[in-house]
Amino acid sequence: MNRMTNQEQKSLKKTMILLLLLLVALATAIGVFVWILAEETLLGYRLIGVVLLAVLVALSIIALSGMVAFRRLWYNKPIPIWMFSMSHFFLRWLYPTLTHMSLWFNIDKDDIRRAYTRLNNQALLNHKKRYNADEVLILTPHCLQQAACGIKITNDITQCTECGACNISGLLDLQRRYQVEVVVVTGGTLARKRIQDMKPALVIAIACERDLMSGLMDVRQLPVYALTNERPEGPCHNTRVNLLEVEQVLKRFIKR
Ligand code: SF4
Repeated sequence: MNRMTNQEQKSLKKTMILLLLLLVALATAIGVFVWILAEETLLGYRLIGVVLLAVLVALSIIALSGMVAFRRLWYNKPIPIWMFSMSHFFLRWLYPTLTHMSLWFNIDKDDIRRAYTRLNNQALLNHKKRYNADEVLILTPHCLQQAACGIKITNDITQCTECGACNISGLLDLQRRYQVEVVVVTGGTLARKRIQDMKPALVIAIACERDLMSGLMDVRQLPVYALTNERPEGPCHNTRVNLLEVEQVLKRFIKR
């Protein structure tokens, strides 16, 4: 659970390169602004320039904190919670810019999402907090269910007859053994509603990189451990999850 996969390492490296490029661009812009301000004599233009300069400096500090957090993650060092909060803030503001930049450098957006998910998970692992089993909610997408299965499990996962054709049976087994709630959702809106209704203290979310990223951005006050699903048959169809990893996460976070 703690070791980074090769794919995560590659994603982290690419995201750090993008951040470095962004920092260089911001530093250049700051330099140009300072130079323009030094030349400007009109007070109005000077004030506007100072405000823009302050914004650029703030963005640079935020990007730098993200860069430092990713670097610590790379060297497997603990990430202080304040640094994670700043990185979280940084991604909300700089994520659209980074994804645009990723297009120019032919970097997959999922690399940025994967790097952030890893950062998020590591911050939770560093925190060392544990939860009662009834405070933990596992949220999983509907595409984890075998497409050919006719059983409706979105309201109640216990309807699964455990034929073993998909990972739902494994999750049902974990629900029973660890006494946690497992909910299958058909989209982000329903996921948010379930969180509002059930008020868990910890969510273990299973989804693709894009959905995990938007979920992590949405529920800022709630700890969410994010697990990327496997998609051997393409997106949103007969997806899988590493049940051993889900169980490891449960063992790590549930009070014994
Ligand atoms: S494990 Fe459950 S949900 Fe999956 S195909 Fe079998 S009966 Fe359907």
